[in-house]
Amino acid sequence: MQNCLFCKIANKEVPAEIIYEDDKSIAFNDIKPVTPVHLLIIPKKHIPSINHLELRDKELAGGLFLVAQKIARAEGVDKTGYRLIFNIGKDAGQTVDHLHLHLLGGKKLPWA
Ligand code: 5GP
Ligand code: ZN
Repeated sequence: MQNCLFCKIANKEVPAEIIYEDDKSIAFNDIKPVTPVHLLIIPKKHIPSINHLELRDKELAGGLFLVAQKIARAEGVDKTGYRLIFNIGKDAGQTVDHLHLHLLGGKKLPWA
């Protein structure tokens, strides 16, 4: 999508610290990390949020979890633990309207 920040990152039009990439997804460090390990995993396809997922996106969406598992191992937080978060909409604080999975780890996380 033309004016979407994360589409631009996926297309390499906006720089980011890319940690992982395959044909369907890309992961990069969050610009304002809230934990020592804080990455965003996104599909390359523009999907605004979980609210906009369609049945045909099933594999694509599921693939994000497998990417998260790989990155958690590579970042060394798979044993210590990590949290995966999708923010959806205003009340959850979603600020970028391109589906993204936060991977947070590297310290003990408070609940909520
Ligand atoms: P949300 O609040 O929508 O769930 O998460 C959006 C995330 O994107 C935030 O954690 C924010 O720090 C991150 N972010 C916003 N702009 C950029 C950017 O230009 N580059 C990177 N790497 N992260 C960004
Ligand atoms: Zn987009």
